[in-house]
Amino acid sequence: MKVLLADDDDNFRMLLSEILQDEGFEVSAHENGQLAWEALQAEGADIAVLDVNMPEMGGFELLKLIRESNSLAGLPVLMMTVRSAVTDQVEGYDSGADDYLAKPFANEVLVARVRVLERRILGAA
Ligand SMILES: [Mg+2]
Repeated sequence: MKVLLADDDDNFRMLLSEILQDEGFEVSAHENGQLAWEALQAEGADIAVLDVNMPEMGGFELLKLIRESNSLAGLPVLMMTVRSAVTDQVEGYDSGADDYLAKPFANEVLVARVRVLERRILGAA
């Protein structure tokens, strides 16, 4: 199971990569939405975990590209943001996000949410 991870915070991105790898996921990690989009088109992924605020291309913009893509539209996407505003969460779901996490969150919660998306994929297969 491959997770595409995009976050511009280097330490946080490395931490999440380690956590997900420890859980047995293959992780493709990128520092902005543009690089993540290029990697996604080139190598694909099973689940995407996207930060909202990133340089070059933010999480909502990347989510929009994913949902408009023929081959990637069904990709489960979990959005993360430091902004805990209700409007931000609503925008996340309106844009087609499957789940939403407000930073800071416990690592176990992220893993649990990714597992939920994984079970959905496995259940649909
Ligand atoms: Mg950020």
